[in-house]
Amino acid sequence: MQDAFGRSFAYLRLSVTDVCNFSCQYCLPDGFQKKPGPKFLSLDEIRRLATAFAALGLWKIRITGGEPTLRRDFTDIVRTLRAVKGVKTLATTTNGYKLRDNAQKWRAAGLDAINVSVDSFDPQVFHRVTGHDRLIEVLEGIEACLDAGYEAVKINAVLLKGINDQALDSYLEFVSNRAVSIRFIELMRTGDNEAYFNKYHVPAATIAEQLQQKGWVRKTREPGAGPALEYVHPDHLGRIGLIAPYSKDFCASCNRLRMSARGDLHLCLFSEKGVSLRHLLQSDDQQHQLQEFIQGSLTTKRVSHFLHDGHSGGTAKLADIGG
Ligand code: SAM
Ligand code: SF4
Repeated sequence: MQDAFGRSFAYLRLSVTDVCNFSCQYCLPDGFQKKPGPKFLSLDEIRRLATAFAALGLWKIRITGGEPTLRRDFTDIVRTLRAVKGVKTLATTTNGYKLRDNAQKWRAAGLDAINVSVDSFDPQVFHRVTGHDRLIEVLEGIEACLDAGYEAVKINAVLLKGINDQALDSYLEFVSNRAVSIRFIELMRTGDNEAYFNKYHVPAATIAEQLQQKGWVRKTREPGAGPALEYVHPDHLGRIGLIAPYSKDFCASCNRLRMSARGDLHLCLFSEKGVSLRHLLQSDDQQHQLQEFIQGSLTTKRVSHFLHDGHSGGTAKLADIGG
């Protein structure tokens, strides 16, 4: 699967719900609000979708949301995707709310890798950012993932001015003796968060400078890897990654596509709107048309987002299409 700019697509971010129980300041400051619209993708639709993408050569799927683990059939979703021929890596991104009690079960069902969002190691700051006083339980969930033998355990932290941009040492300490990778994600502007963005956005370069001063070294990017620039240090078991969507050439290495929980294909996180695949997900006999439709859509993928010009596209918040 290639687009008109020679980029090939190994990686699908598959949202399975818009619902979330947290109210992160930068994403859902007023909590999840129910909207009218089609139902979320069913297990059969998810299987057909993944089968088509895998047949086209895509091999990594990340289940996201909203909070994906709030789906009652989350374990079945994992098991179903695991069984799709061609899917080599199955990951999820979670706020960690249900992790402690389920890490083992999800690993056994076939989940390979997990990203857990932790915007601060200070319980009060964590509470302020997410609306929930659950840092301890989330950290216990991360330990449970390490015990369960996940292939990769990562922590996502949205970089926020005055909240965690000077807290690098707490993250470095956490990874000093744990095989965990931190992902500092530059705050992205979406339709709903303009004022928040203007107040809290800080370029990932500030962390890069601090890392270099502390002797961390940039690693080369692996095939199918996410967009992070990764740093390593001989005295630390874990790694630090920086995701900087505002940096030059960020889109040149784009290798991912996105599906919303209601069945829309998004060619870019910042596209105006998605294109529905739902009518092609209703029977196992539609695989051929579905694959043709996906390939045809790919030819319209644009070379870059237009964030630099202040256009954040049609996405009101990342909970709508899974980040
Ligand atoms: N609920 C799960 C979680 O929070 O990990 C998965 C969905 S969430 C939308 C996926 C990732 O997007 C999280 O790591 C979250 O911190 C990040 N995110 C949400 N809004 C963002 C924004 N405006 N800028 C940068 N990252 C954002
Ligand atoms: Fe929920 Fe994740 Fe958005 Fe936080 S970032 S409100 S946990 S979807």
